[in-house]
Amino acid sequence: MNLELDQDELGFREEVRAFLAEHLPQHLRDGAAATPTVFAEPDIGREWQRILHAKGWLGYHWPLQHGGTGWTPTQRYIFERECALADAPGLPVLGLKLLGPVLHAFGTPAQQSRYLPRILSGEDYWCQGFSEPGSGSDLASLKTTAVRDGDRYRINGSKIWTTHAHFADHMFCLVRTDSTVKAQAGISFILIDMRQPGVTVRPIIGLAGDHEVNEVFLDDVVAPVSDLVGQEGQGWTIAKFLLENERGGSCLAPALIAALQRLRAAGEHQPSGTGGVMMEDSDFADALARVELEAQALEVTELRILAEIAHGRKPGPQTSMVKMVASSLRQEVDALAVRLHGYAGLQLETRRPLYGNSSAEPIESKAAQVAAPAYLNSRAWTIFGGSNEIQRTIIAKTVLGL
Ligand SMILES: Cc1cc2nc3c(=O)[nH]c(=O)nc-3n(C[C@H](O)[C@H](O)[C@H](O)COP(=O)(O)OP(=O)(O)OC[C@H]3O[C@@H](n4cnc5c(N)ncnc54)[C@H](O)[C@@H]3O)c2cc1C
Repeated sequence: MNLELDQDELGFREEVRAFLAEHLPQHLRDGAAATPTVFAEPDIGREWQRILHAKGWLGYHWPLQHGGTGWTPTQRYIFERECALADAPGLPVLGLKLLGPVLHAFGTPAQQSRYLPRILSGEDYWCQGFSEPGSGSDLASLKTTAVRDGDRYRINGSKIWTTHAHFADHMFCLVRTDSTVKAQAGISFILIDMRQPGVTVRPIIGLAGDHEVNEVFLDDVVAPVSDLVGQEGQGWTIAKFLLENERGGSCLAPALIAALQRLRAAGEHQPSGTGGVMMEDSDFADALARVELEAQALEVTELRILAEIAHGRKPGPQTSMVKMVASSLRQEVDALAVRLHGYAGLQLETRRPLYGNSSAEPIESKAAQVAAPAYLNSRAWTIFGGSNEIQRTIIAKTVLGL
C-alpha cells in the first residue's frame, strides 16, 4: 500500500489549490470559519455549491454518467482536504453524499432523471428522516407507517433530530410498510415532498442556541408509489448502504488538522495570562501536540481505507473506528479552542449567524466568539450517525468477535 501522492495526484492538488485561491470568495471562507454547527447554513453552502456546480466538480462522489467527476478515491480525498484547509463551507451532504449514491444504486431511471439533476443544481434541498422518538440507536424499531392506497402511500408518524428539515423541500425517509414480519424486513425507503398538507416541522434549539435539528410530524402525508426507492421491505438494506457511505470513505481528519493548524498559529500570539503566549504554556502545547498526533494517525487510517476502496475492497468496521475517533477528536479540538481563548472563549453568543454584517461584535476575535458555541455543538458528534457506544458494539462484534 502506497500512501504517498504520485506526480499526477500532486498535479491535481495544485489544480485544486489554484481553483480555491481564485474561486472561493473570502466571505464564504469567513462564513465557514464562523459556523459552529456541523452543517453550514444554506446561504453559504448553496453559494459554494453553485460555484462547484459551474466548474463541474460538485458530484465528485457520483458516477460520470450522472454528472460525477470520475475522480479516484484519492483525488476525492485531496479535494476535500484542500477545501477543509481553505475554509470552504460544508456542502448540502444529505442530497449529494447520502441520497445521490442511493439513487445511483437503487433508484429507477425515472427517479434518477428526476431527482439527481435537481440535487446537483441545488433546486431540491433534502433532509434525512430516519430517527424517531424511541428509535435512534434501535432504528429497526421505527413506527412511522406507509400504507398502500392505490397508486400512492399514506404516511403517518413522526421523525426527530431531522437536520435542516426547516430548509428542506424533500425528505428521504424510512417507513414501516409491513408490521407482520421481522422488524428490519418490514421497512421501506421512500421520498416525501415536504411541501404538502400534513407535514409539520418544529424546531429543536441546541445547547448553543443553534436551530439545526427538528421534529417532523407526518399526518396522512402522501407519496406516489413511484417514489418508493427499491422494493417494499428493502429499506433496511438501503439504509445500511447509506450509513456505510455516511461513516465510511470519509475525510474527517483534514478538517481537524486545519482547525489544529489555526489553533497552533493563534497560540503563538494569544497571551497565556502568565506573561507569555499560549504555545509557551507547556500543558496547552502538550495537549495540542497529542491531539495533532492523533489527527495525523486518523488521516493515515482514512488513507488506508481509501487504498482498500481503490482496490475494490469494502472498508467494513474500520469506518466505525474512524467515525468514533474523529468524533472524539472533534470534541477535543473544540475544547482546546475554548482553553486557548480564555475569557473570550467562554462567551456564549446565541444570535445567528455569527458571520455577515449583522452578526454580533466579538469581545476579542471571531475565532474566540465561535469557540463556546462550537464546543457545545460538537457534543452531538458522538451521537449522530450512530453513537460511539454503538460504534464500539460494531467493532466488538465484527473485529473482536465478541
Ligand atoms: C445534531 C444531530 C443531528 C442529527 N441529524 C439526524 C438526521 O438528520 N436524521 C436522522 O434520522 N437522525 C438524526 N440524528 C439522530 C441520531 O442518529 C440519533 O440521535 C442517534 O442515532 C442516537 O439515537 P437516540 O438519540 O434515539 O439515542 P438513544 O438510542 O436513545 O441512545 C441514548 C444513549 O444510550 C446509548 N445506547 C443506546 N443503545 C445502546 C446499546 N445497545 N448499547 C450501548 N449503549 C446504547 C447511546 O449510545 C446513547 O448514549 C441526529 C442527531 C443529532 C444529535
